[in-house]
Amino acid sequence: MKIVPFSLKEGSKKEWKDVFNNPRPVKVESFKTGTVTLNMRGTINPKHPNAGNVEDEDVDVPIMAHLVHHDDLGDYLLDAGLDASYCNDPRGNVKGILSWIFTDEYQQEKDENIAYHLNKRGTKLKGVFLSHLHSDHMAGIRELPHDIHYVIGKGEKCLESKPFHYGGYFKGLEALHEIDFSTVELMPPLGPAADVLGDGSLWAIYTPGHTPGHMSFLVNGLDGPVLYTIDACFIRKNLECGVASSGYTWNVEMAQKSLENILEFLKEYPEVRVVCGHEDPE
Ligand SMILES: [Zn+2]
Repeated sequence: MKIVPFSLKEGSKKEWKDVFNNPRPVKVESFKTGTVTLNMRGTINPKHPNAGNVEDEDVDVPIMAHLVHHDDLGDYLLDAGLDASYCNDPRGNVKGILSWIFTDEYQQEKDENIAYHLNKRGTKLKGVFLSHLHSDHMAGIRELPHDIHYVIGKGEKCLESKPFHYGGYFKGLEALHEIDFSTVELMPPLGPAADVLGDGSLWAIYTPGHTPGHMSFLVNGLDGPVLYTIDACFIRKNLECGVASSGYTWNVEMAQKSLENILEFLKEYPEVRVVCGHEDPE
């Protein structure tokens, strides 16, 4: 599969306050596509001085995907969530003799998969923005249209395809389109942010740490701006104690820095609502 540059239009705004003064006709609907069990020691970095005593405790959290509907520009998905293969198989039909070692397990009820939600609404997707390439955020690609754009952050690596272990997530896709954040405007205190539809409605924000090319998203709708942190902040507790994850995480220091940028941003712009990565806002 080819990796090609995502073509960005010249950014419309340079500061968040100008962005928020020009809300756009976009709305979001969030779908739960399954459940994953996280351990609190790892979801919260137990070694961080502000972590307190983090219990060795499992928590079940939702696996989410978010549908962005723009009145003029159409429908886009933020993450693909899970396809229906997890309903009968917690490893989602991953093939290969080592799959039992490497593959994460998820739970899924009937009619939770991403295509079910989209078909029910008659949604015609124009593109999918993938925050990062972990299976709980991308496995749904397998049941989505292939003739649309799939967009990732530059530097993102697909760690899911290892020898003797193959999920087939990209089968049938011609290319992944990557956003090169080094060419994108810095939007403090968050860092590089790309105006991906070109009208200030939807922003992809570079928040590395969980993975090398991780993106969070900001939707600038008429009901007020909403930040979708995705896995730059798994759950509310990360925000409350100001401590990022250490488990499931590529670079713990970078993840902590990205979380601190988010906290500073939320303090500076209290009008922004926040939705954490493994939280269902509906
Ligand atoms: Zn992840």
